[in-house]
Amino acid sequence: MEDADLIGLFDMDDTLVDYTGGITCSLNAIKGENEPRYKSPIPRNPLNKTRVDVIRNVPGWWENLKRLKLGFDVYELAKELGYQLHVATQGPIASSNAWTEKFNWVQREIPEAIITITRKKSLIYGRFLVDDYPEFLEAWLNKRPRGIGIMPAHPHNEGFSHPRVVRYDGTNLDEVKEKLLWAKNRK
Ligand SMILES: [Mg+2]
Repeated sequence: MEDADLIGLFDMDDTLVDYTGGITCSLNAIKGENEPRYKSPIPRNPLNKTRVDVIRNVPGWWENLKRLKLGFDVYELAKELGYQLHVATQGPIASSNAWTEKFNWVQREIPEAIITITRKKSLIYGRFLVDDYPEFLEAWLNKRPRGIGIMPAHPHNEGFSHPRVVRYDGTNLDEVKEKLLWAKNRK
């Protein structure tokens, strides 16, 4: 029988979705002839911020982003372990098109998942949250004293550590499995 309480939460950008890859590719498509090619991490400056804001408002941009393997490794594992699969993603204030396109992406790629688009991820219940962004993961863990965090490894979260978080870099799925089993079997 399905356990209604056995919920696993997945972030989208840089977890299930290759957001940084999409931004990098779009920035390279519009860069000046003499500018060096962009690569991750994208330098933070006012010009790049403007470019990224414009890119994020191009119709279809969010919907056409590619899958990210790091997140899908954990997604498939959670599915095998019998978790109900939920997407918990932040809706950006300055790109309302993203709210529709994130929904369409999930419908196309993982129609079995339930999606919540929110301004505050820490409100959402789950046994674990898979999220690349330290601030979101910490806020959620603070509200969920028994919750487990899985962090897909990226340059922007290098060095992050927390007693209830496994940083997954593609080589330590066993460690992730151990945590998800603990979260599943906890009393
Ligand atoms: Mg993210």
